[in-house]
Amino acid sequence: MSAKDYQKDYYKTLGVPKTATTAEIKKSYRELARKYHPDANKGSAEAEERFKDITEAYNVLSDEKQRKEYDEARSMFGGFRSPAGARGQAGGFGTTFDLGDLFGGSAGDGGLGDVLGGIFRRGGGTQSRMRRGADVEAETTLSFSDAIDGATVSLRLTSEAACKVCSGTGAKPPSMPKVCPDCHGTGQQSRNLGGFGLAEPCKTCKGRGMVVDDPCTECHGSGRAPSSRTVQARIPAGVADGQRIRVPGRGAPGENGGKPGDLYVRVRVKPHPVFGRTGSELTVSVPVTITELALGADIKVPTHRGPAVTIHIPPGTPNGRVFRVPGRGVRRKDGQAGALLVTVEVAVPQELNKKARSALEELRAATAGEDPREELLRRAAQELQMQEGDDP
Ligand SMILES: [Zn+2]
Ligand SMILES: [Zn+2]
Repeated sequence: MSAKDYQKDYYKTLGVPKTATTAEIKKSYRELARKYHPDANKGSAEAEERFKDITEAYNVLSDEKQRKEYDEARSMFGGFRSPAGARGQAGGFGTTFDLGDLFGGSAGDGGLGDVLGGIFRRGGGTQSRMRRGADVEAETTLSFSDAIDGATVSLRLTSEAACKVCSGTGAKPPSMPKVCPDCHGTGQQSRNLGGFGLAEPCKTCKGRGMVVDDPCTECHGSGRAPSSRTVQARIPAGVADGQRIRVPGRGAPGENGGKPGDLYVRVRVKPHPVFGRTGSELTVSVPVTITELALGADIKVPTHRGPAVTIHIPPGTPNGRVFRVPGRGVRRKDGQAGALLVTVEVAVPQELNKKARSALEELRAATAGEDPREELLRRAAQELQMQEGDDP
């Protein structure tokens, strides 16, 4: 992305508010992409331009990191051309415009990426069309323990491959694609621009170099079809619920010697019945009695994968206090283990035996003069008085 790109209002281009979620952005983009797709507009240059704009906007806004940087730059520069000094900063992140990533990644697009790849391709003939495979998204659910230790999971992936019916040609068998009559198979047309010869993707064949008279009925001429495969992916230790793991090279295979895409695995972590986890710290909520907090006590608390440990509760401990047990959390990469955070919570007895009831009644009688709400009520009343004083 260049500094100049901050002048563009990508939200406006996609017709979404600044607060739009990624899902909303995607939905709006899909609708617009369908509408302005060059295939649906008989090669209209205006539609193609529009299409490029919405794709560019989507490319930035759909990427959390790029969107954040874009938002920040917009608020910093107010959408005007940035000073030269800001250029280095703005150019700090990649501007790679990989349509294979964008379209190939989700199954069901039916080869949109392929068609678009042709539109945007610059340079290179049809013979040596090396293409990186698409990135693929998948989801997996791990147990609490596997998330801590890391695990190897088998994932069934649906990605794009050559259509089996037409062998990827896009032409209905037994017909074959023909060399494009307009560009003679180069996929490019040159346009003279004030002395510069500018190579543009051929409009007739959309840069593919070939045209299909009779499209394959299976893939509607795209030459691509969804295909399933199973891959193994290593999920590293310490993954958190909702985290997205990148597994390089495990996406869709590349074409003509291109590198494979990446696999992105969204990890869900099943909750543990006893423990929670934040990073390398484990959490546990432990019920205590009112007397244990008031009088103090040594109580046993469970640890994950180890024997229970005893913690000391000092007299007069408030409800909800967190005790830290070092070394009983999750082992980190550096070999050190995080802490176990123990929250004490008063369990109010639902049933009382005779002795306990009379002891509590005695306690009530002994503390009859104390009203724990006295201070609270006094402050609320004071505040009310001050407000009334303000009103004329
Ligand atoms: Zn052509
Ligand atoms: Zn086909």
